[in-house]
Amino acid sequence: MKFATTSRGDELSNSLQEKIRTYLLEFELEHDEEQPDIVISVGGDGTLLHAFHKYQHRLEETAFVGIHTGHLGFYADWVPSEVEKLVIHIAKTPFRIVEYPLLEVTVRHFDGEKSAQYLALNECTVKSMEGSLVMDVEIKGEPFETFRGDGLCISTPSGSTAYNKALGGAILHPSLESIQISEMASINNRVFRTIGSPLVLPKHHTCLLKPVNDVDFKITIDHLFLVHKKVKSIQCRVAEQKVRFARFRPFPFWKRVRESFIVE
Ligand code: NAP
Ligand code: MN
Repeated sequence: MKFATTSRGDELSNSLQEKIRTYLLEFELEHDEEQPDIVISVGGDGTLLHAFHKYQHRLEETAFVGIHTGHLGFYADWVPSEVEKLVIHIAKTPFRIVEYPLLEVTVRHFDGEKSAQYLALNECTVKSMEGSLVMDVEIKGEPFETFRGDGLCISTPSGSTAYNKALGGAILHPSLESIQISEMASINNRVFRTIGSPLVLPKHHTCLLKPVNDVDFKITIDHLFLVHKKVKSIQCRVAEQKVRFARFRPFPFWKRVRESFIVE
């Protein structure tokens, strides 16, 4: 089996990363940065987001596992004191794979510029570079509303505990193949009207955002920040691809939610 490791870059994460490499090489696993079967991310959820994007071109061949060197994470759910145990698991036992849904974002442009496609593990956010975001929102090919406000957040189930949660979105179990649209400070009065509630869309229900004015957009895909000009539409839907996590022990999602937000 071939492995790769990633680190947040701080001293603790780097030294753990080194330890994991040494152990796994001793167990005669092969280190392969380019084509790993398993990627071990040491740091936080942010570190795993980076790892995901580094290997997003080969998701079907890659399993991820995360160790947290800060607070408990949703993707990084192993603690440093368990590293030996984890390494033995990786080397000696076949692991179970759990798959989580992803968000596919397609940005299309006027001017015939090539469209851009992205995969998000957490979410995509859309804001305007100048003034409020104004966008026509279509769902499943039908006009739904015209949004005016700070921005929109379209998240995956596993991303629902991140930015989406701060926006008052619901926490969704990752077994639900869906995306959630949550609003950032929508303007609501007698002239402007948005639904106001977060919406959860099932697979194949596409959400299409269409600019009303010719402005530039700030689009984030997880930690990545992009500026798009001359945008014709931003299309969001549940991706065909999924992310795969290596599971060596049960750590149910609701337990992770409780231990992250309620009590350790
Ligand atoms: P960051 O600013 O360090 O991340 C913000 C926090 O979100 C960190 O505590 C991070 O955990 C945590 N986080 C990431 N994914 C999560 C998940 N799926 N569930 C629960 N918490 C999660 O930036 P980053 O580490 O590069 O992460 C990018 C993410 O930050 C974005 O995808 C977005 O979800 C989130 N964000 C949140 C807000 C907000 O809540 N107002 C605003 C902007 C961005 P770690 O410390 O373990 O990395
Ligand atoms: Mn972070």
